[in-house]
This record gives sequence, structure tokens and C-alpha cells, in this order.
Amino acid sequence: MLIVMKPGADAQEIDAVVNVIQEFGLRPHSMPGATRTAIGITGNQGPIDGRRFENLPGVAEVIRVTKPYKLITLDLRPEKTVVRVGNATIGGSELAIIAGPCAIESHDQAFAVAEAVQQSGARFFRGGVWKPRSSPYAFQGLGEKGWRIMSEVRETFGLKIVTEALEEPHIDLIEQYGDVIQIGARNMQNFSLLRRAGRSQLPVLLKRGMAATLEEWLLAAEYIMAEGNYNVILCERGVRTFTQHTRNTLDLASVPAIRRISHLPVIVDPSHGTGSAYMVTPLARAGVAVGADGLMVEVHDHPELALSDGAQALTPSEYAQLVKEVRALREIATPTVTESPTQHQAA
Ligand code: PEP
Ligand code: MN
Repeated sequence: MLIVMKPGADAQEIDAVVNVIQEFGLRPHSMPGATRTAIGITGNQGPIDGRRFENLPGVAEVIRVTKPYKLITLDLRPEKTVVRVGNATIGGSELAIIAGPCAIESHDQAFAVAEAVQQSGARFFRGGVWKPRSSPYAFQGLGEKGWRIMSEVRETFGLKIVTEALEEPHIDLIEQYGDVIQIGARNMQNFSLLRRAGRSQLPVLLKRGMAATLEEWLLAAEYIMAEGNYNVILCERGVRTFTQHTRNTLDLASVPAIRRISHLPVIVDPSHGTGSAYMVTPLARAGVAVGADGLMVEVHDHPELALSDGAQALTPSEYAQLVKEVRALREIATPTVTESPTQHQAA
């Protein structure tokens, strides 16, 4: 159920509706928008009687939700969500660029790449501290040592740190030293991890599962939002198909498909989406052309020596050229953004 408040409804009227929802033992999700506030309700097992709300002061409309989603939808929030990370944004008018190595390998490697990322004007630095590898014998990430390097990068370059949490305790550490929690493709349906991320104050970058339908992906975002964290960024990174010329098939149609359903920002990862460096720039251009809010790109100062995903890593100079090109394309493919006047706060 979704309660739409009248455009002029005041804070007291909104609070009164929130209180009634809580009295029923349910959870209200208040979404302030540019023209009106809507309140989503979760926690109910069956249908709720809308008549309990329709006569409360300030209520314009009570809508029964028939779709599987409650919180990601444009019905709840017609304007796009702009995720704010300090002074940087994802989903706003600026194209968000998240770049860095697949994994943090050493101080020198991280600093060389971070310098290239900073020089490109990007605001976000990515890098795995814990790596989900297919083989238990492959490099698993530097763990705690990697975090020390990450903190130095954050401090030295002022970049926002995006890193993947493989387990719930990793989120505790990201909360101390990082800026954005990444949930990887392999964990897209790790529901306890999603719930834990939903209880964080940090934004969550949710990658599409390797074989996930759009509905499964969006329901994973609902898991996070249902816990009160509305700062979710969706990341298309390709799905597995029969093709052999790419590591994954980058499903760029998911970008407009999501736009039609959801207010959440969506970015594209052409690195994991293709697996080959020579394809990254063309697919990055395509991602921007279809209206993505940003890109996630893997960069390495010596791709041939990388401990993971070297084949898809761009060199710093290839990356700098990519950024120039996608910025130019963005000028003619800017998604319409109506920013909401009030930023959501995680509950
Ligand atoms: C990554 O971004 O480092 C990663 C492991 O990606 P994915 O979860 O999309 O495979
Ligand atoms: Mn990688």
C-alpha cells in the first residue's frame, strides 16, 4: 500500500500518518518528493484496509500496490533518486565515474591508479579489498592491509571509496573507512547481506546477479530499501549467455527498462560486462548513450601484471581518453533529472 499526501500536506500531517502505520505494527517509508510526499508501507503479510488512511488529514490518495515492488517504484517517488556521497552525486546531472583497479594489490599500484582517477576528475575510487574469486587458490585480496592502503588513498586524493562487502562483518569496516558499500553479482541474492546493507547509513551499489532477471535484481534492491536505506545504486554488469566473445553479455536495455519502473540511479560496468580491455571504451560510450547515470571502470597501471581481471583493465592513458569521450557524449545524452528538494535519510 502506498499513501500519497496532498502537495500542501505539512510535517504534522505526514507524522500523523506515519504514526498510524506504526500503530498497526507496520513500517512506514516516507519519500519526500518535489511536489508531494508518498509513504510506502512494508511489513504486512496480507492486504491492508486503505479506508484506515483515506480520511486522515493531508492524505490525497491511497493506492493498492499490485506490482511485486513497493519502494523502488516511480509510483512511490516520481523523481529520480540522487545519491549524495559528500559533495559527489550519483543520479544527478553529473556523470558519475567510479574507477580503480579490480583489487588493491600494493601501495604503489593503488596510488598510481588513484592519481589517474583523480586527474580525470572522477570522484569515486573502486578497488577490491576482499575478492570473490572462482578459485579458492586465486588471489583473495589483501584484506586488512588493503584497507590501510584504501584509507591512505581516501586521505591523499579525497576520492570516495567504493568497495565490495562479501560478508556482513565487512560492512562494519566499510562503515569505518569507506563511502559506498558494493554488493557484487555473486551476492545479489545473499539476503542477510542485503538486509545488513539496508541497515547501514552508507549508500549501496548493487550489482546485477550473473543470471538475474530484472525483477530479481529490483527485488534485491527492495530488500535493502525495506530496511530503511533508500540510497541504492543499481549497476548493470552483464549476464551470462551462450556468447563466447565476451565474458558476460552487457544488457544495456536494462537501463531504459529500469528507468520506466524505478527512481533509482543505474550505472553500467563495461569492464566485467565484456572482460576485454579493447571492448571497454566502446561499451562505456554505449552505456552513456543509453542514459546510464555513471560508469564503473577497472584501471591498472600495469594490466599485464594484475593479480585479477588484468585482461579487462585499461591503462591510465586509455582510461583518461575514455573519460574525455564519455563526458562529450553525456552532453547529448543527459537523462532528465528532477531532483527532490529533500534528501532521504537512512532510518
Ligand atoms: C568487481 O566489481 O570487482 C566484481 C567482482 O564485479 P562483479 O560482482 O560484477 O563480478
Ligand atoms: Mn574485477
